[in-house]
Amino acid sequence: MSIKVYLPILSALPIPVMLVGPSERIEVVNAAALRLFGADGTGRHYITALRQPAILDAVEQALKDGEPRQCSYLASSGSSDTTWRASIAAVLLPQGRGVMLSFEDVSAMEEASQMRRDFVANVSHELRTPLTALLGFVETLKGAARDDPVARARFLDIMDREAGRMARLVADLLSLSRVEAEERRRPLAQVDMVALIRAVAAPFEPVAQQAGVTLDLHLPGDESVMVPGDAGQLRQVLTNLIENAIKYGGSGKTVTVTLSPVAVDPALRAGAVRISVADQGEGLAPHHLPRLTERFYRVDTHRSREIGGTGLGLAIVKHIINRHRGRLRIESVLGQGSIFTVILPVE
Ligand code: ADP
Repeated sequence: MSIKVYLPILSALPIPVMLVGPSERIEVVNAAALRLFGADGTGRHYITALRQPAILDAVEQALKDGEPRQCSYLASSGSSDTTWRASIAAVLLPQGRGVMLSFEDVSAMEEASQMRRDFVANVSHELRTPLTALLGFVETLKGAARDDPVARARFLDIMDREAGRMARLVADLLSLSRVEAEERRRPLAQVDMVALIRAVAAPFEPVAQQAGVTLDLHLPGDESVMVPGDAGQLRQVLTNLIENAIKYGGSGKTVTVTLSPVAVDPALRAGAVRISVADQGEGLAPHHLPRLTERFYRVDTHRSREIGGTGLGLAIVKHIINRHRGRLRIESVLGQGSIFTVILPVE
């Protein structure tokens, strides 16, 4: 009986499967494997389909000794590359020993571990810069500047700033990991967004004044507007957005915070509350917008550091809004300013 009678069964499997016979020819390719390799290589030598040294070696060895093996297989479909884990196992066919190859898509896992590696590298880099400065100044204070009160005071000021930067970074990292850990649990307490905006904006008044920025609130009278949420986290969203708008808005300009209830928001397909924070700063080029919420993504790293930014503020905002099943919309026009809009469902 030909092995091909099993093809419908193999084709019902969602994973790519290929059978190589003792004559080193491809006997069976299921539907998923056809999609992976792009062509039906049945009847041809397996080299013509596989073409990567690691998997060719593994198949050759398995045909010889019958031992199972695993190796990586890289495929590119259109614009994206995918990584597969290929398992190669010997099968006894009527004509002799063949091997069955099955492929598991591990691209998501690979991507996650790459992201983890990048994240650790970024955190180390962000911490190393202020730490190096601190160590340098400690050294100077112990030596050359020991008896120089003017230099000592200046260096202590810089050390204070650098230590503050490290403390902010650690605080932001902790909030990010806390928010991520809770992201699947939607908060259900009722929060009055009007009261919250007032409470968050009030302590910013002196900061805005010092920066020469006018902070304008457009809120619907004295009514309360309730949303299900975590008050502490929503406070952090507003704080980060208002702080950025003041930081990047520029002196002499206005930052406007507007709250508007919407009967049905098209993106959420539900009743919602929109809170927008608009500034009249330099604005952002369109290619930056989709990347702003990535951790440590900054348009101007030097400037962000100068003004005490960690590059994590918008990443925290995005995760909190996700937890609330809301949306973050960023609109910006170069030279005119930016509008960050938070859309939260009301139920
Ligand atoms: P940072 O701590 O650097 O401010 P954020 O995650 O809050 O980090 O913001 C990321 C980057 O997005 C900033 O470095 C800045 O380049 C840009 N950005 C954020 N808010 C604004 C804004 N209102 N106007 C212009 N650029 C902004």
